[in-house]
Amino acid sequence: MTSGEHTQSSGDVSRAPAARRIASADPVVVIGAGLTGLSTALHLPQDRAVVLLERDDRVGGKARTARHEGFTFDVTGHWLHLRDDRVKALVSDLFEPGDLVEIERRTGIYTHGTMLPYPFQANLHGLPLSIVRECLVGFVEAQVAAANPDALAPKTFADFAVARFGRGIAEHFFVPYNTKLWGTSPDALTADWVQRFVPVPDVAQVIGGALGLVQEGLGYNARFLYPKAGGIDALPNAMGARLAVARPDALKLRQQFTRVDARNRQVLVGETWQPYSKLVSTVPLPRLIARIDGAPPEVVAAAKSLRAVGWRWLDVATKTPSPLDEHWVYVPEMDIPFFRVGIYSNALPAMAPPGCGSLYVELSDRDTPPDLPTIFKHLAAMGAITRPEDVLFARMREVRCAYVMFDHAYAEATATIHAWLATQDILSTGRYGAWIYNSMEDSILLGMDAADWAA
Ligand SMILES: Cc1cc2nc3c(=O)[nH]c(=O)nc-3n(C[C@H](O)[C@H](O)[C@H](O)COP(=O)(O)OP(=O)(O)OC[C@H]3O[C@@H](n4cnc5c(N)ncnc54)[C@H](O)[C@@H]3O)c2cc1C
Repeated sequence: MTSGEHTQSSGDVSRAPAARRIASADPVVVIGAGLTGLSTALHLPQDRAVVLLERDDRVGGKARTARHEGFTFDVTGHWLHLRDDRVKALVSDLFEPGDLVEIERRTGIYTHGTMLPYPFQANLHGLPLSIVRECLVGFVEAQVAAANPDALAPKTFADFAVARFGRGIAEHFFVPYNTKLWGTSPDALTADWVQRFVPVPDVAQVIGGALGLVQEGLGYNARFLYPKAGGIDALPNAMGARLAVARPDALKLRQQFTRVDARNRQVLVGETWQPYSKLVSTVPLPRLIARIDGAPPEVVAAAKSLRAVGWRWLDVATKTPSPLDEHWVYVPEMDIPFFRVGIYSNALPAMAPPGCGSLYVELSDRDTPPDLPTIFKHLAAMGAITRPEDVLFARMREVRCAYVMFDHAYAEATATIHAWLATQDILSTGRYGAWIYNSMEDSILLGMDAADWAA
C-alpha cells in the first residue's frame, strides 16, 4: 500500500482531531531529509512503507552546498571522517571509484601572532617562552593531581580543561577558544561532548611538541574524504538518488509538518493528517515537543530548558589563492572577531575558479553586523588572504540551531523527553533530534539504528 492511500483530510485542523483506527500497515513517517532521515528511509526493509517529509525543496539539511559565481561553500567545513565499516561500505557504494578524494588534514592554531600545528596542547613550540613554561608546568601539575585517587570528576568544561591539560593550556587555548565558539563561558558547559573530539597527548608528546618535534596525526580526524567535484551535497544527493530508485514515492519535498497527534499516530502536513505506525523525527528536539498535542507538562518544561547556539559565518571569495597551507585554523585570540577560518580551496582547488580562493570565517559575535574591514585585516595578518583588496565578495550566512549546549540542565532534560517519546512510538534522532554533538557519519549511523527501531 502506498502512503497516499492512507492520507486523510481532517476538515478543520485547528480542532483536536477525531480518533482514528491505527493500522500496523501505516507507513513509517520520517521527518527531515538530512543525512539522518535519508539514512533511515534507505535502511528500512523494503516491506515497510515509508514517507520522508522535508520542508525544503532539496535534501541534505546541514550537509548542503551553496554555489555562487563559480565558488563553492558548505555550511562551513563539512569534512567526512569515516571509521565505521557499515558507513564506509555505504559511501563506497554510493560513489564511483575516484569520485571521493582522501585528504590528509592540515590544521593550525593562530595565536600570539604565530601559526602552531594542531593540536595546541602537543605543539607549544613557537609560543613565547614564558607561556611554554606556564603550559608545561600546568600540564605536569595536572598529571600529578590526576594520579590522586580522590581527585573529583570535573563538573564544567573549564574544570575538565584544567584537570586534563593544566591551567596554562586551559587559559591560553581551551577557555578562550570555547568561549568564542559557544558564545558563553566554559563554566556554563559540562564536558559531556568532548571525549572523542579533544585529543589527549601523553607527557612525551607534550614535551616533544614544546621542543618543536613534530606530532603526527593526533586526534580523531587526521584524514578525511571529500567529493572530488566540490560540495558535500554530493553525499545527500547520492543518498536521495538511491532512495528515488528503491522507493520512488517516499520522498516528499516542500512538506512541513506542524503538529503531531501522538494519540492517533498522525502528523499534520499542510491541511492533511498523515498517519504513521512509527514516527522518526530529525527536527530539533524542542521544536518537535512544542508540536506534539498533549505532551505532559514535565516534558514540555524539559524541552523549554534545552539551549543551542547559532552559527554565523562568512563565505569569502578571493581573486588569489590563500597564502596559507592549512585546511582550517583555530583562532583563540579574544580580540580577533572569529574563532575558526577554513580554506575550502586548499582542500580541493575545484571549490574556487582557477587561481582564486574560497574560505569560511566563523564569527564569534552572534548579534551585531560583522565589521568586514576589521575581519579582512585580521585574515590578511594571519595569512589566510593575501590582502583585503583581494576579496571579491563576502556573504554572511547563518544557522540558528548549530551546536546544542551541554549545559547543566542537559542530561536530565534529554532523559525525561526521550523516555516519554519512547512510550509514544516516536524516535527523535539525528544531531538535533537526539540533541547531541555528532558528525555526518554518526548521523548516517543513527539513521541505520532508527530503521532497525522502526522495523
Ligand atoms: C557548523 C557545522 C559544521 C559541521 N562540520 C562537520 C564536519 O566537518 N564533519 C562532519 O562529519 N559533520 C559536521 N557537522 C555535523 C553534520 O552537519 C551533522 O551531523 C548532520 O548534517 C546532521 O544531519 P541530520 O539529518 O541529523 O540533521 P539536519 O541536517 O539538520 O536535517 C534535518 C532536516 O529536517 C528538515 N526539517 C526541519 N524542520 C522540518 C519540518 N517542520 N518539516 C519537515 N522537515 C523539516 C530540515 O530542512 C533538514 O533537512 C557540522 C555541523 C555544523 C552545524
